[in-house]
Amino acid sequence: MWRSALARGADEAGEAGAEVQLVDERGEALGRALWDPASPIAARVWTLGRAPIDDASLTWRIERALAVRAWTFDERTSAYRLVHGEGDRMPGFVVDRYGPVAVLRVDGEAAAHHAARIARLLRAPLEALGVHTLVERAAGRPEAAAERGEKARGRTVHFGDPPPDTVTVREHGVPFVVDLLRGQKTGAFLDQRESRRRVGELTRQLRAERVLNLFSYAGGFSLHAALAGAKTTSVDIATQAHATAQASFTAAGVDPRKHEFATADAFAFLEDAKRKKRTWELVISDPPSFAPNEKSVPRALSAYRKLHRACAEVLAPGGVLCASSCSSHVDASSFATTLDDASLGRADLRMTELHGPPSDHPTLPAWTEGRYLKFAVLA
Ligand code: SAH
Repeated sequence: MWRSALARGADEAGEAGAEVQLVDERGEALGRALWDPASPIAARVWTLGRAPIDDASLTWRIERALAVRAWTFDERTSAYRLVHGEGDRMPGFVVDRYGPVAVLRVDGEAAAHHAARIARLLRAPLEALGVHTLVERAAGRPEAAAERGEKARGRTVHFGDPPPDTVTVREHGVPFVVDLLRGQKTGAFLDQRESRRRVGELTRQLRAERVLNLFSYAGGFSLHAALAGAKTTSVDIATQAHATAQASFTAAGVDPRKHEFATADAFAFLEDAKRKKRTWELVISDPPSFAPNEKSVPRALSAYRKLHRACAEVLAPGGVLCASSCSSHVDASSFATTLDDASLGRADLRMTELHGPPSDHPTLPAWTEGRYLKFAVLA
């Protein structure tokens, strides 16, 4: 609950992490929350009415979260989100599984205060899944600390042996290497798993020979396309990303030397490709968020337009464009306007698919930020 929505009593609610009772104007109990005085979201609601936030209710929440994953995933997928914060009604807590290792990420002081307790309650259910290590990565950019060589900082082992720096997991049977130490987020972008699989299918359906993957990071889209028979071009501005991608190619039995990895700015790469009249039958664009806040939305929309037009310009006749956005401030309808005929500068592409976040990233009706991911297919 936003601080601005709170009336009386909010000043005396106590320290970060304190359990508070929320009541309406008539004194009716609304629910119990964890108090976060430094955050604009001052009260993170966990239970309804007067139900206490005790170990039993936290354990029930954890069990509810894990139950959905248990019937969603089989042995072909060993990396997925176990707990998706607000979306699993566990505000401030994200837990991602990478095979035998789980990574906890905590957002806000209230959640930080309860991290050790949540970790303790996670232990038995995680061990039952075959997860024997729980490591916490600090919020902010621990990858930046790792780049400076500060290995230990930003990592707390809650239980189990300290994890290796990298781990090989599977997504729909495809192996990929996750850099647990330097990787972005908790190590990988698990939210695009279904999109990566779809790109593999599209490559097969189109019999695409050339696939361009812009903002490729650890090369997941490229690997699915490569396994479907295409020669791939991966473009990312970070060199480290390509090293991880190439390790995944090798793990999957694909020779990375037969594929192109360009360390470049995607916009500059597209300009150069256009000049050289290079084309691809499948183009994927998955940039970082262009809109950090509401104010930057108009600027972000024009950046998406510019990017999508440049993608359309290198698309081979009959080709397919996959365009994604992970900005929560840009909703699906606004994003769609960056893919219309005027934006693309052509009138032959139609949106054939528009996907949101996958089922291990559940959302709630009131939690609009949860619907941040858009993945559009234009053919
Ligand atoms: N598609 C990836 C996730 C992409 S994350 C996946 O499925 O896992 C965004 C990536 O864009 C990051 O790896 C970052 O290094 C890269 N990036 C950021 N700005 C860039 C730019 N201007 N040109 C190319 N890559 C960029």
